Amino acid sequence: MIPTVCTGSPEHLHHRQLRSQGGEHTTGNLVGICSSCHDWIHAHPRWAYRAELLVHGWEEPRFPPAFYRGRMTTREEET
Ligand SMILES: [Zn+2]
Repeated sequence: MIPTVCTGSPEHLHHRQLRSQGGEHTTGNLVGICSSCHDWIHAHPRWAYRAELLVHGWEEPRFPPAFYRGRMTTREEET
């Protein structure tokens, strides 16, 4: 289950650690994603945490996230 209408274009800046959980306005916490992925993330938070597009406040965001620009990375396929 992944966003099917991803344009792969960094239209929005998304905070991976939500600002409500202490996420900062830094390059390490921000990721450029398309508007449909952004909508998908906030509609499917459980998926988004597995995809590392949402990161808990006590975790360190890794780059790239497991799902990036319309594709799962190999790291996620290993698990
Ligand atoms: Zn997208």
